[in-house]
Amino acid sequence: MIDLDTPLAQILVVEDDEAARLMMTTTLKKAGFNVHDAANCSSARALFASYKFDLVLLDVLLPDGDGFSLCNEFLLEPNGRDLPIAIVTGLDDVESIKMGYQSGATDFITKPVSWGTLPYRVQYILQGSRTILNLSVSESKTRALLSSIPDILMRIHRDGWVLDMQVGSISFDIQEWFYAVDGEVYGRLPPEVNRAVFAHIHAALKGEGMQLLEFQWSHLPERVCFWEARIQQRDDNEVLMVVRDITQRKQHENQLRLSAKVFEGTNEAILITDANLNIISVNRAYENITGYSQADMLLSNADSPKVGLRHYSFFEHIISVLKERGHWQGELLNQRKSGEYFPCWFSINQVLDINGAPENYVAIFNDITEHKNSRAQIDFLAHHDSLTGLPNRTLFNDRIEMAINVAHREGKKLGVLFIDLDRFKNINDSLGHLVGDQILKETAARLTQVIRSGDTVSRLGGDEFVVLFPTISDERNIAELTLKLSVALQQAYLVDGITLHITPSIGIAIYPDDGETFDELIKNADAAMYLAKERGRNNYQFYTPVLNARTLDRLKLEAGLRKALELGHFELHYQPLIVGSDCSIRGAEALVRWRHPERGLIPPMEFIPLAEETGLIIPLGEWVLTEAARQLKQWHQRGYVDLVVSVNISVLQFKQPEFLARVETILQTVGIEPKSIELELTESILMGDMEASIQILQQFCDRGYRIAIDDFGTGFSSLSYLRHLPIHLLKIDQSFVRDMFVEPASLAIVDSIIGLARALGKETIAEGVETEAEYSLLMQHGCRLMQGFYFAKPMPAIEFERWIKANNHSVMNSGPL
Ligand code: C2E
Ligand code: CA
Ligand code: CA
Repeated sequence: MIDLDTPLAQILVVEDDEAARLMMTTTLKKAGFNVHDAANCSSARALFASYKFDLVLLDVLLPDGDGFSLCNEFLLEPNGRDLPIAIVTGLDDVESIKMGYQSGATDFITKPVSWGTLPYRVQYILQGSRTILNLSVSESKTRALLSSIPDILMRIHRDGWVLDMQVGSISFDIQEWFYAVDGEVYGRLPPEVNRAVFAHIHAALKGEGMQLLEFQWSHLPERVCFWEARIQQRDDNEVLMVVRDITQRKQHENQLRLSAKVFEGTNEAILITDANLNIISVNRAYENITGYSQADMLLSNADSPKVGLRHYSFFEHIISVLKERGHWQGELLNQRKSGEYFPCWFSINQVLDINGAPENYVAIFNDITEHKNSRAQIDFLAHHDSLTGLPNRTLFNDRIEMAINVAHREGKKLGVLFIDLDRFKNINDSLGHLVGDQILKETAARLTQVIRSGDTVSRLGGDEFVVLFPTISDERNIAELTLKLSVALQQAYLVDGITLHITPSIGIAIYPDDGETFDELIKNADAAMYLAKERGRNNYQFYTPVLNARTLDRLKLEAGLRKALELGHFELHYQPLIVGSDCSIRGAEALVRWRHPERGLIPPMEFIPLAEETGLIIPLGEWVLTEAARQLKQWHQRGYVDLVVSVNISVLQFKQPEFLARVETILQTVGIEPKSIELELTESILMGDMEASIQILQQFCDRGYRIAIDDFGTGFSSLSYLRHLPIHLLKIDQSFVRDMFVEPASLAIVDSIIGLARALGKETIAEGVETEAEYSLLMQHGCRLMQGFYFAKPMPAIEFERWIKANNHSVMNSGPL
């Protein structure tokens, strides 16, 4: 028995010859096959219908038909598909063998049958058919597989004909693809692509191996696609070409290229790690910023010291935040390869894979050193004086308050110095601001050098410095320290090749004796400094309670006046002098005001008495005269040629031996004639040596000046001396004008002044005329000139000029406003 690897094969034997049928059946049965036999076509058909056979052995000649027709018949049956059928025929009956194949038989067995080998023959036939069957199954599988591939597969003949094609998801007719006529290639693709494809086909056929080419072609309107063709030789005349749509891949590639450009092109450092924080990429900016190259970094771990982040535990914290929120931002201190630390602003993001697990971490950072520096710079500027670099008032305030807290807690003393450079203003004015600035810088440097660490020097503005000694043992101690500072400041200054000597005046206040707050201490140190100045400058003074509020105010006012004179903080206002008969303008009285930087406009009554007391009235008075003359000159030039300006002259000025000469110089310099200036003097000039005063007045008169006696009627003297005075005008004091209606005596005085003046050939002007009634009454009594709020208040020059323009005519024609 032969070894059959298949389960019992069913064999149908169709043979009309009794003996042959029996032999065949028996032999095959013996060999282990399952055999049915039929002697004619009809019984064969019956058996075929009821069994599924694996093989049919078919005699050619049968009583009710022939084997070829039967063969044909069986193969058309459903269970006849792929059925091997062997024709049993005579050895040399070639015609039958041929006909058998034509009718679909797969094999033949020749008679006389060799019974010994028959089972093997049958076996072979069965095996062959099975192989074919398997083949066809695998072929259909392949076909299914191929059709699921989106690629286009083509077998192409060397002449350009597409032999076979598998279009995958795209369907085209074979003919449309390629065809060649007279060596020229035509087809669906653009001509240059066709040519390129054929060049590659020929290269492949020449044995140059697999050919690869990419081309653009759009098989759909308005959509450019990218394709890739792989061409491989199959045999001498044929290639296999696989065409693939790579549009998407191209797009990805472009995107990747773009990303890569951004990655490399950005100024921010980028570091990418895998999920285990192994560094897989860094960009050029990273290399530039940190000094580490890509090669240095690859395969290091992100917590390696190379990454330069200081706090590795912090790193863990970041990772935990990343896990929770997916991103982290913040400032970190980083370290360059050179070892230098630098601050960075970090932004770290987690990248997840498709399953949502962390796949990468991307850290982006930039060096914020400059940013931080500029912030520190701004911070510095906010707390320091830009000229000297010393702490400014704000910072000094902080320090002193801190020091006060400590001193208070520990029951200790602290000292505050107020330093002012004597006559600094002169240097600034005469040598220029640049020199002044140099001196202030140098002063700051000297003070800084002398103080101990922990002490603070600050510039409050101008040439005022303050020093804080947070720890002093006693007054001797602070006196020593002060002396040291003072000595340092008295050294000659060398600026621009000029040697300058500057002395400081220093005031000292001590906590808690002289004050318990910043403001008090500064104020009292300041007061002590004024005292130092008062006592001859270049010294220092402790604050003493004797420096009470009044003296202090006076001292300050005086210092303020001096400063205002230096800085030109005065201005003149002008009050019209009116001719009562027609209310026309005769002139103006110049009245000084102090434009104080903090207090605003200060009226003269608040500072003239002190100016007189301290002698400052002399330079101030000179300024007033100069300014009034200058202004009058302008008005004259603008056509108000008859305008007169009266100027108040203090006794102290008048009593200067060279007063007349000074006035002359001023007027000559400006170019004003004496007749345009009226000097207002009070009766007090006559005190003392009256003869001398009268002589001086006479000199003024002789030169053409006009003299007015101000506040007339309030003075000490009797009217009798008037006769001897070389004057032109009496100004009736405003107190009489004010009281004319309430006090008959006042009206009587006014009346007698007017009468007297007329008798002596002098003019009168009434001051302080506030109402129409006063004006009328004064007119009735024959007062020619008037001045007062009824007409106008004192006003700045520019307003005064406007006032003249607006009122002159109407005032002249239709009486007062
Ligand atoms: P004065 O010389 O008697 O000046 C007249 C003062 O009376 C001015 O006050 C003026 O504004 C004010 N006045 C004018 N009309 C009226 C009015 O209708 N009603 C009232 N209630 N007041 C009126 P001002 O400008 O405050 O000057 C006050 C004093 O200061 C002056 O009195 C004068 O003695 C002195 N003064 C002003 N400027 C100078 C100056 O340049 N040198 C000197 N040495 N003293 C001056
Ligand atoms: Ca006056
Ligand atoms: Ca007056």
